[in-house]
Order: sequence, then structure tokens, then C-alpha cells
Amino acid sequence: MPLLKSWVASANTSDHPFPLNNLPYGVFSTEGAEPRCGVAIGDMILDMAAAEEAGLIALVEVPLFDVPYWNDLMEEGPAVWAALRERLTNLLAEGSAEQDKVETLLVPMDAAELHLPLVVSEYTDFYAGRHHATNVGTMFRGAENALPPNWLHIPIGYNGRASSIVVDGTPVRRPWGQLKSPQHDMPAFMPCRRFDLELEMGAIVGVASEGPITVQEADDNIFGYVLLNDWSARDIQAWEYQPLGPFQAKATATTISPWIVTKAALEPFRCETPAREFELLDHLRDCGPMLYDIDLEVTLAPDGKTASTITRTNLKEMYYSAAQQLAHHSTSGCPMNVGDLLGSGTISGAERSERGSLLELSWGGKEPVTLDTGEVRTFLEDGDTLTLEGHAQGDGYRIGFGQCAGEVLPALEDPYAR
Ligand code: MN
Repeated sequence: MPLLKSWVASANTSDHPFPLNNLPYGVFSTEGAEPRCGVAIGDMILDMAAAEEAGLIALVEVPLFDVPYWNDLMEEGPAVWAALRERLTNLLAEGSAEQDKVETLLVPMDAAELHLPLVVSEYTDFYAGRHHATNVGTMFRGAENALPPNWLHIPIGYNGRASSIVVDGTPVRRPWGQLKSPQHDMPAFMPCRRFDLELEMGAIVGVASEGPITVQEADDNIFGYVLLNDWSARDIQAWEYQPLGPFQAKATATTISPWIVTKAALEPFRCETPAREFELLDHLRDCGPMLYDIDLEVTLAPDGKTASTITRTNLKEMYYSAAQQLAHHSTSGCPMNVGDLLGSGTISGAERSERGSLLELSWGGKEPVTLDTGEVRTFLEDGDTLTLEGHAQGDGYRIGFGQCAGEVLPALEDPYAR
């Protein structure tokens, strides 16, 4: 599929993240007005509440977009999702008969503040990148025990906290926690000294389910994808993670990008999962090309200024797809809800320059990373701004995700001061 031309001129360049082919869903506010649903097209946002009010979009009997979340649209199901995408494509395409009416409903993106695009129902994070799991396992348990025996058979995950999800641009404060270094006999309560990022993507569940669902059903139930940074306190994690997995190390914040890129927009970029060492059991088996070819990049900017690229990788490095994770999540009978967010797990490639965390990039702090400014990093320092970006590259167009950024604020002097 080529670039689809829009009458919104800025949407028609080959490297713009938001062409007509994309149409990602976000929540925005402008001065003096409440947050509401919007769709990105070029440098503009289509005010969906206003479009609905004007009668330009009428998919169902009830209003869907005069709210600060896309959950109501998700609740309507895949047929309505498809109808909306078709309607938006027609309204915004070059030659649209309704251009005059729609033009008045566009808001310049730089005049808008972006918010979380959905109410996150629950949040689960996985560990489905083989290079990442091998690297971390080697550092934490030694090369011979790097991949746990279950890893090649099920997507490993843990239940996170929806309350910790924040949107792009939200500063993240370095946490305090209990940690123990191998040189000391006893643990101590102190600010995290190994604060890290995890480059991930998040899948958003758009259809609720009860009881086990197949991989195909799981794929059908996914609404869209966002970039996701699972901020991680490595020293807290190393002390707490056995036997029940990470807990406070992952609970400070998880940042997501503000635009939900729909599964429909990513359809042309589907690709196969990597070769499997063991065939997966039937209920987890691939049901077609399960992953997406999405280029990902992370930059680190000390003091928020000069940004150095610290990693470049691709979502196709994953061993398990979001659909396989969702299918696995449901096997116990666990009810899955509209608005559930599933983190992919850290996305690392085979090369050092493709690692999706500083833990791996600096190999546990032993091999510092040199930034373009000449500064070095093992883990994050106060004032660092981290930015995740990603896009799928089409023939003359891109499906972009926008940014997923956050600045690291210093730890509180005394977290229990009242
Ligand atoms: Mn993670």
C-alpha cells in the first residue's frame, strides 16, 4: 500500500509519523477545554468530540468521544473499530466532499496537551525477548542458568499496577527501596543507584474475555499498540525478585506514548516470530505472522539537551507475540478486560547496540556507555531525559508512534518526611 494522500498537507510527507495510513487515537486538551478524544493527522489533531457533535461521525446511538479515554470505542467491538477507521479515512482523504466541515475541527498539535489515551484497566508485563532474558539471566544467575527451563515454553510475566502508568512527558522520580549489595551482610533502605529503562511496546486489549481464548481470538481482541518504558530499579529488583518476581523495582512508573496505533494500521507490517527451539504447545502456537516489523530507538539526553542514541532495535526480535501473551494470560480462566495493557518485555537484539536496557548496555555497570557529549553512563542519572521512538517503515510512508519520554528527577531527601 502506498502513502494515502490527505488534504491535510503536513500528513503527506514520507517521514511524517502520522499520515492518513496511520490515524492513531489520543486524548488531548486545549486551553480552557476539557480533555477529549482526538485523532492525529499530520501536525493536526481532529477533535473527535466536536466531529461527533457536528454529526460527522455517528457510529452508534450514544456519544463515544466526549470523554478523556478511548475505552468506550473499544467496548463497541471490532466491527465499529473498522467502521470508524473507514469513516475517518474518507473524511480526511484528498478530495473529501466534507473537507470544509472537518477543517474547522482541526487543532494544531503544538497547541494541545496530550494525556493518557485510555483508562488502563490492569497492567501485566512480560519477559518475552530472548536476547534480553539471556543477557539478564546471565548477569543474575550465570550463563548456564540464563534462560529458566520454562522460558522457551511459556511467555513469563508478572502482574504490574495500572496505577503506575503515566503518559509521555511525565517526570519520574528516582525511587527509594530496600536493596543489598553482595559486599554487605545486611540490606539497607536508600535511593536506587541502578535506575534503568526497559524499551518495550504495550498491547491494549479491546475486547473482554472470560476463560481460555485461542491465539487467533487473542489477536482479534487486541485494539492497538503503544511504546512503553518499564522504568526499573535494578538494585531493588536483584534483592527482591526471588521467588515471586519483580515487585517494588517495577512499581515507580511505567511510561506509555500518547497515541494508540491501531492494529489495523500495522497490518501491512506483520512478520514471523523467530525460529523455535521447541514447538509450542497447541494453545500457544503461531496462527500466522504474529509480530510486526517496527524500528525502535532510545535516546538519552543529560539535562534534557543533547540527545545520544543509546540503542536501536526492532519489535521482530521478540520470541512471543502480544497475542500469544494474551492467550497464555487467559489459560487459567483469568478474565481479561477492555483497557488491559500488556507490556511486551524488553526488546533487545543480538548486538550490543541493540540492547533495550542500560543493565544490558553497560553489562551490569561494568562497561559504561559513552554518550555523544563524551559523558558516560552505567545507569540513569538525575536530570537524564530518556525518549523512546518507533515507526514501521512503509513504501513512501511511515506509521509512527510519537514519543515516550520522561526525565529522571532526584530521589526525595527523606521519603517519610511529613
Ligand atoms: Mn519490563
